[in-house]
Amino acid sequence: MNRSFKLVTVLGIPVEINYSWFIIFGLVSYTLSVFVFPATSPQLNPMIYWIMGIATALLLFLCLLLHELAHSWVAVSNNLPILSITLFIFGGVAQMSDEPQNPDLELKMAAAGPLVSLLLGGFFLGVSLLLYRFAALRAFASISDYLVILNLSVAVFNLFPGFPLDGGRILRSLIWKATGDLRQATRIASNFGKGLAFVMMAGGFYSLVMVDLIRGLWLIFLGLFLMQAAETSYQQMRMKKMLSSIRVENIMSKNVVTVPVSINLDRLLEDYFFRFRFASFPVVEDDTLFGIVTFHDIKAIDRNRWGITTASEVMVKIGESLIIDKSSDLLAALSKLSSNPVGRVLVTENGKLVGIVSRKDILKLFEFKEGIEE
Ligand SMILES: [Zn+2]
Repeated sequence: MNRSFKLVTVLGIPVEINYSWFIIFGLVSYTLSVFVFPATSPQLNPMIYWIMGIATALLLFLCLLLHELAHSWVAVSNNLPILSITLFIFGGVAQMSDEPQNPDLELKMAAAGPLVSLLLGGFFLGVSLLLYRFAALRAFASISDYLVILNLSVAVFNLFPGFPLDGGRILRSLIWKATGDLRQATRIASNFGKGLAFVMMAGGFYSLVMVDLIRGLWLIFLGLFLMQAAETSYQQMRMKKMLSSIRVENIMSKNVVTVPVSINLDRLLEDYFFRFRFASFPVVEDDTLFGIVTFHDIKAIDRNRWGITTASEVMVKIGESLIIDKSSDLLAALSKLSSNPVGRVLVTENGKLVGIVSRKDILKLFEFKEGIEE
């Protein structure tokens, strides 16, 4: 479910498609071509139905993309970067790098998506009315009719007041504005999300037994998805809030053991890895930071070359994702940690090494903080 590939870049944001989307694409095209269109526009060539079905599925995709782009456009034009947009089985998700700075921005951002879906619904309604006027084109009105329903459904579903759905974000922004407390607002809005998920699942079980197996399963599936999303997005918000309030220098390990550039791997193992038992060591000479060498880097080299290979030949060279200034916050550190291969970030002051922070340090701290708060 988590595999995606990049399709295009719009507004500087990579648009990715999750592979699960192909299942929906196939199902939608198939259902429309085999069942829906032959009923709404009888006596056409089966080939035409398939073309209409695939065209509708592609247009649906475009509509979902426009919905996500509407959210992203509001974010980007208010200096809130969007990391990526992923289209997947239920629609789309725009990945924000941070929470909106104020409730008004959150409200505008959340409302933009459903608003675009409503406008698209209205647009396709206009197309349908136009097509119905011409007898020759009437058959194709099934496409726009269907897109009216789909866009309205997308707007309505997303407006349910359960976080992290758009409606839940609107609810959160209103509570946030009224109380000034983002955390409390998020908790209430995600509890609404969980409540909504519960109602959907209960409805799903009822439907499963009494009405329609497929619709029941579908509702249960959506409910489970929403339940999980409500929980994780609340946790993520808490984590982000905590991390952005702590500076790297307050949790870094000081007195870092460093290794010289020209040491060979045999000595590196004996004198450093076996002796201190750290997973990696910064490579430093004359106060200049050159990189970081890990146990993995050594293992990747043939054993009988350890005596003639130096640390600088196998280390991960210094780069933006490997160093952080001591006054930065932990959120910035975590984002570097997720883009570098060593699970550690070297802390510097005026370019000189003063400490080191690992992903484990940050997660452990969060665990402790969370343990106290509950
Ligand atoms: Zn949305």
